Amino acid sequence: MNKEDILLIKRLLSSPKQIVLVAHYNPDGDAIGASLALKLYLQQINHSVHILTPNSYPDFLGWMPHSETILQATENQELCIEKVQVADIIFCLDFNTFNRIGGLQKSLEESTAIKILIDHHIDPDSSFDIMYSSTEKTSSTSELIYNFIVDMMGGEKYMNKQIAECLYVGIITDTGSLSYSCNNESTYHVLGNLFKYGIDGEAIHRKVYDTYSENRMRLLGFSLMERLVVLEQFATSFIYLTKEDLIKYDYRQGDIEGIVNYGLSIETVRFTALFSERDDRVRMSFRSKGDFNVNDFARNHFNGGGHKNASGGNSYKTMEDTIEEFKSLLENYKPLLTQPWE
Ligand code: 5GP
Ligand code: MN
Repeated sequence: MNKEDILLIKRLLSSPKQIVLVAHYNPDGDAIGASLALKLYLQQINHSVHILTPNSYPDFLGWMPHSETILQATENQELCIEKVQVADIIFCLDFNTFNRIGGLQKSLEESTAIKILIDHHIDPDSSFDIMYSSTEKTSSTSELIYNFIVDMMGGEKYMNKQIAECLYVGIITDTGSLSYSCNNESTYHVLGNLFKYGIDGEAIHRKVYDTYSENRMRLLGFSLMERLVVLEQFATSFIYLTKEDLIKYDYRQGDIEGIVNYGLSIETVRFTALFSERDDRVRMSFRSKGDFNVNDFARNHFNGGGHKNASGGNSYKTMEDTIEEFKSLLENYKPLLTQPWE
């Protein structure tokens, strides 16, 4: 963000405003962490702030400070629309295109509020008035929120343990506990600073990760034993979960989070996907190692997007046809997927 934009935001925030923070569909640890942290900061400087999400967040984030104040459009559509209509400023967090916010899309598009994007995904739309979009050397939107509060707004004195906890959750969940998207000094600089506010990183880790139900654990086991397919010739693997599989293990939102990453743990695999069947579509997650760009893959073939090494998309075909389409696409990428690397 340039100096003019920073000054403009400072000026906007210098008197009390109605502010809405919006995060993406199926909000994850980063979307929720970034939203709560920004809310906890903005409230201290006298703004009225509401966080809106298109649908619910996973249960393992329910312990996060003030998470109970989040308004979900699937439960409170009218109230959410009302908040958007009266907003002076809308912060769009952890997404960069309005088709990522489900039932909130129309009201956001119609809103005349000033729209500020804070996000780390590639290729933002031009729908925003002010953009703080950083993809290079950036772990997460939560890292950007830290920079926004402390460096851009000069708000270090408003930082506290709760804000730091939220940002910590965002950074660790978006980096697979510091295993990808974090080869940056800046990420560790922010993390190091968060500890100044008295957070307990180990306790947060337990609250986020050691919360499986027995069913969720067994669904993971089933996915690896029965639903993992390895295509050695393409250095690719995928896991598919049908509606029946999900019912069998009493699927709850968030239960398949993280499963996609296991496909990449195989030494020879560079590209992996998870297909999970929903009522109207097959939801897809993609992950890669190295230079294979899954943002491009998701955008070009499955109406999705994300990052170079982690993206998602949707298929409106049956599971069987989706898998067939995926396999046939691999032919085109074979040279890329199988080229030697260090
Ligand atoms: P996940 O596989 O964990 O759902 O998503 C991986 C990354 O891709 C996340 O950063 C997420 O925001 C992004 N992503 C997932 N699905 C979509 C999609 O349908 N469209 C776009 N633009 N990004 C997505
Ligand atoms: Mn994120």
